[in-house]
Amino acid sequence: MALDVDGMMKELRGTYVSGKTKSYEWRVSQLRALLKIADHHEKEIAEALRCDLSKPDHESFVYEIASMKSSCQLALKQLKRWMKPEKVKTSLTTFPSSGEIVSEPLGVTLVISAWNFPFLLSLDPVIGAIAAGNAVVLKPSEIAPVTSAVLSKLLGEYMDTSAVKVVEGAVPETTALLEQKWDKIFYTGNGKAGRIVLTAAAKHLTPVVLELGGKSPVVVDKNINLKVAARRIIGGKWGCNNGQACVSPDYLITTKDNASQLVDALKSELEAFYGKDPLRSEDLSRIVNSNHFTRLTNLLDDEKVSGKIVHGGQRDKTNLKIAPTVMLEVPGDSLVMNEEIFGPLLPILTVYKVEDSIDLINAREKPLAAYLFTNDKRLKEQFITNVSAGGLVINDTILHLAEHSLPFGGVGESGMGAYHGKFSFDAFSHKKAVLQRSFAGDVPARYPPYTPEKLKFLKALLNGDIVGLIRALIGW
Ligand code: NAD
Repeated sequence: MALDVDGMMKELRGTYVSGKTKSYEWRVSQLRALLKIADHHEKEIAEALRCDLSKPDHESFVYEIASMKSSCQLALKQLKRWMKPEKVKTSLTTFPSSGEIVSEPLGVTLVISAWNFPFLLSLDPVIGAIAAGNAVVLKPSEIAPVTSAVLSKLLGEYMDTSAVKVVEGAVPETTALLEQKWDKIFYTGNGKAGRIVLTAAAKHLTPVVLELGGKSPVVVDKNINLKVAARRIIGGKWGCNNGQACVSPDYLITTKDNASQLVDALKSELEAFYGKDPLRSEDLSRIVNSNHFTRLTNLLDDEKVSGKIVHGGQRDKTNLKIAPTVMLEVPGDSLVMNEEIFGPLLPILTVYKVEDSIDLINAREKPLAAYLFTNDKRLKEQFITNVSAGGLVINDTILHLAEHSLPFGGVGESGMGAYHGKFSFDAFSHKKAVLQRSFAGDVPARYPPYTPEKLKFLKALLNGDIVGLIRALIGW
């Protein structure tokens, strides 16, 4: 059936204008419906993720289904508090008055999602849009087609389709959607399409959140528990969709004298996790499609990295599998160091002093995440102060995403805007300033005819100068 975007927009606009989506009850009913989808269809969702990515059920449950449920449960628990106008203190300038910040929904919103966590990355922003009282259209990624179809079917069955809709499709459908006037666009994906989204949004002055990616570095210092560090690096890299995650460790930096110990620790933990033949492991996602498989094998086959592979390198084109691969002393001008890897390859760069890693990171675009493993308090402080990234984690990887109290988003090339927890609600709300006064306290000095005395009084008032005010009042 052809997509009738104009008809859909008319219906959504009508629903929004009716005020239906603004009520607390409607928001709660829709969040509960999302929870039901996750509860009643866990197996179907996990199967879809297995079809699209060979994603292990363990990862589907932890990183997609449970994470989505946890966002939903938090929104249900906190919604009344989030919706409540926030009282603010007012100043002498507007005395007597009261002020508050009212969170109002933006209207009809669009969520464009990516393929790597196709369930979570589709519904997590939708939770924010609904909690904030908006109508919303979800456009899942065509590169995870089975999950996209499951989302379309389940949201159609469980949600109020006069306000929540799914449009499946690729570039033509997304282009048609982007021609419309939206009140917010929330996009997750690569920066190239992000620029297309931002350009389309500019035409209508639509605010945009761009959740993009980048090369997220991991710095590994000496004198640490290397076994735990290696396990946490592997967990964030290969244990999270086989490196196909936006916050996946993209490259490691360590000192020259620490490199071989680090490689040994990674090798031994990788073997403990995925066995001697990782291509046969059920616990590793496959590469999403043959285009990405070819892109990744081109990075592996680059002559600048030949002889640099110290672990892995095996591939299976038929099953789109690439083994966890570690490369040591990779040159800065190799292909693998010049794009976001988004796959199971992990280059290691070395420096003489661990502090030099900060300059190496800052010489590149700002990443979505940056990680540091160290016991050195001074290095931690230096890293936090000097490394600009969407988020930082010290002595672990990727876990900042699981903290609802922390905003998740990029900076510079890794994106703009943030979400998760209350930040999702805020991303889809307008913060309306409301100042209330009574008819008392009308100050004549505001009005013409202007006189030097009135100006003196106003200057003292605006400067918060109580003595000056008294002087002006008594004409001294
Ligand atoms: P993708 O191919 O699924 O594209 C993302 C969305 O953009 C899809 O819905 C797609 O239909 C749409 N799209 C693609 N081309 C378009 C065009 N020309 N016009 C309009 N829409 C278009 O996903 P991807 O881009 O391959 O995702 C990987 C990238 O996304 C990586 O850079 C990764 O780091 C980033 N990412 C970021 C986050 C985050 O939360 N910050 C999460 C996941 C992925």
